[in-house]
Amino acid sequence: MDKGSFYLTTPIYYVNDIPHIGHAYTTIACDVMSRYKRMKGFDVRFLTGTDEHGQKIQSAAEAKGMTPQELVDKIHVNFKELWKALDISNDDFIRTTEPRHVRAVQAMFERLIEQGDIYKGTYEGWYCVPCETYVPESSMGENRTCPDCGRPLITMKEESYFFRASKYVPQLIEHYEKHLSGVMPPVRYNEIMSFLKSGVHDQSVSRTTLKWGIPVPGDEKHVVYVWFDALINYATAVGYLDDPAMFARYWPAVRHMVGKDIIRFHCVIWPLMLIALGINVPVSVIAHGWWTVDGEKMSKSKGNVVDPFKMARVYGADAFRYFLMREVPFGNDGDFSELALVGRVNSDLANDLGNLLNRSIQMIVSYADGVVPSAQPSGDATDSDVRSLGASTLKAVDSAMETFSYDEALKHIWTFIRRGNKYIDETSPWKVHEAGNAGRLKEILLTLHDTLRLSAMLVAPYIPSSAEKMWAQLGLPGSPMAALLDDFAWGAGAGAKVKRGALLFPRIDVEKWKEEKAKEKAMNAASVSDAPASLPSAPSDHEPQIGIDDFAKVEMRVALVTKVEEVPKSKKLYKLDIDLGYEKRVICAGVKQFVKPEELLGHRVIVVTNLKPAVLGGVESNGMILAASVKTPGSEQVALIAPASDIPLGSRVH
Ligand SMILES: [Zn+2]
Repeated sequence: MDKGSFYLTTPIYYVNDIPHIGHAYTTIACDVMSRYKRMKGFDVRFLTGTDEHGQKIQSAAEAKGMTPQELVDKIHVNFKELWKALDISNDDFIRTTEPRHVRAVQAMFERLIEQGDIYKGTYEGWYCVPCETYVPESSMGENRTCPDCGRPLITMKEESYFFRASKYVPQLIEHYEKHLSGVMPPVRYNEIMSFLKSGVHDQSVSRTTLKWGIPVPGDEKHVVYVWFDALINYATAVGYLDDPAMFARYWPAVRHMVGKDIIRFHCVIWPLMLIALGINVPVSVIAHGWWTVDGEKMSKSKGNVVDPFKMARVYGADAFRYFLMREVPFGNDGDFSELALVGRVNSDLANDLGNLLNRSIQMIVSYADGVVPSAQPSGDATDSDVRSLGASTLKAVDSAMETFSYDEALKHIWTFIRRGNKYIDETSPWKVHEAGNAGRLKEILLTLHDTLRLSAMLVAPYIPSSAEKMWAQLGLPGSPMAALLDDFAWGAGAGAKVKRGALLFPRIDVEKWKEEKAKEKAMNAASVSDAPASLPSAPSDHEPQIGIDDFAKVEMRVALVTKVEEVPKSKKLYKLDIDLGYEKRVICAGVKQFVKPEELLGHRVIVVTNLKPAVLGGVESNGMILAASVKTPGSEQVALIAPASDIPLGSRVH
């Protein structure tokens, strides 16, 4: 039974990012939908991948002494491993450095040049020299500074190719007017329509300042700008260039899931490119919200970034998947809390679903030797009620999934699961057994088995490995994922031999959990405040080792001290003017008691240049000079660190 094709994509993730809850959420949402559509009989294609070009990769590779290709070959694996850990069923994983993609991008670029929709012009923008990157006005810091390094931006002009986006805007507006679900949810649709109506400029699609990218065909001093390159992945992966039959099969059914921050690329620029190329616009772009953690914005400095690997390890991939899909209406922002996750595991998964399975299997074992009896429906009202709720649940889930309302679908599924538990209480099979009513008992056991069989199928897209375990305990062959929801038939499990198994979701003791969390917190705090305060000691086993990536985050450079002043209010501080070659800064250094001004003035020092600015003794300090120190009882020694031989200012310390 082929219902046609269904092609769903995640964004391709920037390969240099550490995978976090946002990546996990988008990908799990796509995985659940793909699994569901497969169980509805669709020919599904599910794509994810990594975005591997751009200046950040080039710089990160240089800092590590690798080529960009070596770096991306190494780190893209982080994402592949996460998808394995989270039970993601993607059919393909595309990397933008793959030859199939490079060729597709060049072919599209060439075609757009030939038809006059890409032309040469001049690009002008704000540019950060040390980061070697343009900064859009929307992400500039205060006083036109770089959001990454905080340094002032300069204006920069270069030759660039432009995509004639403006030409196709009326066609796209007309398309969206006819296709209201072209952008979902409606709040994003409205946002895109008003953006389109306010006008779209032609878009710069190449750079000469960047090296790590796809060369523009026939003009190799340009590389294709990263977003233009990245968007095309969706077409590459279904054979835009290499496999016309595959492209014809999947493209017309393409849907992109994205975070709400990147909808303009997906709902404006990409469709305009497709219209220019005479290719169908995606059926839908579905935008989801963002996650906070315990009510706060997630950030590295707060240390509250949710590590999806850890969540899968501690609670299991299924519990994490269930929580993310259940907790927020899709499209809204959500708040992640581990305590709330624990609560969901206990109430929904252990109590409702786990109990229904255990109690039912137990009774089939006790009253029917573990073999699901066959029975003719007697027309009992309670049984009919369960059946009709099962049928209406299938319909309700389907309409919720049409609008990507995962939480709604789960609410319907859990209403059905709770109905199963209530059915046990209402029918009291142990009483029916005592009364010797064998016919009725058979019917009840079969209804329970049916309820669980349907539940396993309904939860399979969300918690696939638990659904497999349920299926095995129910004595059913194959996998619930291979079953078609539309083919579900009551009574079809008769004759199955059930097997008692381990608890699907053991209850988590909340009090113990809280104690352990408190201990963990105390230990983390201790490891910060217990830094060696007296004699230098060899690093102990307890000091965490860091990887080369952690080290590479600290940017240290050679600087010249050009002025030394005392900070009047402070016993410890000097105010230093330093010259990094490419810029001058002011830094405060707490070495007044140990170092004479002449030991600093005119000398070269090593400065940490990417430290957040801090106000010390009323002076804003933009960095830190390095010194070694040792405290012995009654005295303290300090020695400045300097390069051992002459080297230009601004040279980086590796
Ligand atoms: Zn910068």
